Amino acid sequence: MTEVKEQVALITIFGGTGDLANRKLYPSLYHLFTKGFLKENFAVIGTARRPWTNDFFREKVVESLKGIEKEGFDPEEFASHFYYQSHDVTNRESYVELKDLSDELDKKYELQGNRLFYLAMAPNFFGTIASRLKSEGFVDNAGFSRLIIEKPFGRDLASAQELNESLRQAFDENEIYRIDHYLGKEMIQNISVIRFANSIIESLWNNRYIDNVQVTLSETLGVEDRGRYYEESGALRDMVQNHILQIVSLLAMEPPIKLTTQEIRHEKVRALRSLRVIEGDDVYKYFVRGQYGPGTVDGKELLGYRQAENVDSDSNTETFVAAKLMIDNFRWSGVPFYIRTGKRLAKKTTQIAIQFKNVPMNLFGPDQSLGGNVLVIHIQPDEGITLHMNVKEPGQGMLTMPVNLNYAHSSPDGMNTPEAYEKLIQDCLNGDATYFSHWDEVSLSWNFIDKVAAVWSNSKEHFPNYTSGTMGPKEADKLVSQDGFEWFE
Ligand code: NAD
Repeated sequence: MTEVKEQVALITIFGGTGDLANRKLYPSLYHLFTKGFLKENFAVIGTARRPWTNDFFREKVVESLKGIEKEGFDPEEFASHFYYQSHDVTNRESYVELKDLSDELDKKYELQGNRLFYLAMAPNFFGTIASRLKSEGFVDNAGFSRLIIEKPFGRDLASAQELNESLRQAFDENEIYRIDHYLGKEMIQNISVIRFANSIIESLWNNRYIDNVQVTLSETLGVEDRGRYYEESGALRDMVQNHILQIVSLLAMEPPIKLTTQEIRHEKVRALRSLRVIEGDDVYKYFVRGQYGPGTVDGKELLGYRQAENVDSDSNTETFVAAKLMIDNFRWSGVPFYIRTGKRLAKKTTQIAIQFKNVPMNLFGPDQSLGGNVLVIHIQPDEGITLHMNVKEPGQGMLTMPVNLNYAHSSPDGMNTPEAYEKLIQDCLNGDATYFSHWDEVSLSWNFIDKVAAVWSNSKEHFPNYTSGTMGPKEADKLVSQDGFEWFE
């Protein structure tokens, strides 16, 4: 059981009328309230440009909790801790009023000067907000000052560096919490337990026993109404630079000497430093890009990416990436880490498949082939692990059959796997940055991604190259099959 420690803080949300705040942040804060992590001594300020009143804001907050209300935890009482401040982040005057309100709430709720700033806004405002928070004295308070920011953290190494420098004017590295909501997922955090609490797993976790590792983050949805953002980003920047490289570093890192933020980060950084640099013509050998065209899914005709709103009719933006990553160190030398992610694929799944090497010879052959052992870590929509093994078929003879040893997180432990945001906000309030990205990780991953992006932006691919509702372009299958493997489905 996690120890329930009440958190005392003023949480200021920039972008308080936005989608992220409504769909994720208010429900997550309410969950923390129902679990006792937030009680009496907390207050939330929502800021945005709209001229809302406190009462209207509170109504919106209560509305955002529809369907998740818990007996004994009145949404109205929870919402009474919420205050609204109409605020244009680019206007200096607005900060004076916001500062007065912050100080007032600090006193009223006895918040000990603890402040958490959540920037749930477009990243082009981050630098301005940080420098104003500094110049207007928001961070000179008695308690802690912490900043949570959303992805994307830059568009390449240069812009990420620029953004980082502007944040660092006001906040130290250990006060900046770069959120990567995948890192808040239960099963991602479980990677460390599966590896470091099971001797049968960790002792096989190397190139002597593992053939290849596969990480799949697939979505069935298309770009929907995010065309403008996605045209600038593409799957490489949107998914690989952050979520996928974070997962790969957790899988590949050496055991840390302690499970502290600093030690885990240190090992993740070392894993990222061991990534083989892919540049120039090698990009075509190690990476495959794709863009979805029209297709029929469940009898419904769907438009291609190029027909989406705010997307160029001749767009060169990738909606799919597959790659073979190599980690050049003693543990992983020779083991490919295949990754793939994309939109409008056949199924929505996030999973990791660790394929173990076959037994040295098949004693049950030649008529029976043996399936290899695979450890699958299911992250979403199902949460759990499956170990694929071979056993004897009951009865006469020595026939083998594959079986799956299953652990599904949702069945034995109840239905409520904690929402990623809830966990991450709680971690931040607790000062635990383990599941946030450190600048060293961000800069190393941009450095890796920039070289691929440079090659792709200088050449046009024959897009669209996969049909909506399939698992991506054929080249992605070739990437794996040419090494004698196949994607684990
Ligand atoms: P949104 O457009 O719904 O909300 C933006 C908010 O910023 C609104 O409250 C708006 O009023 C406010 N705003 C805009 N300009 C302002 C100004 N000059 N002064 C004050 N307020 C201003 O966006 P969103 O979907 O909530 O996303 C916010 C951030 O979170 C983005 O960086 C996005 O990439 C990231 N993000 C969102 C989600 C999600 O589920 N929505 C998921 C991951 C990351």
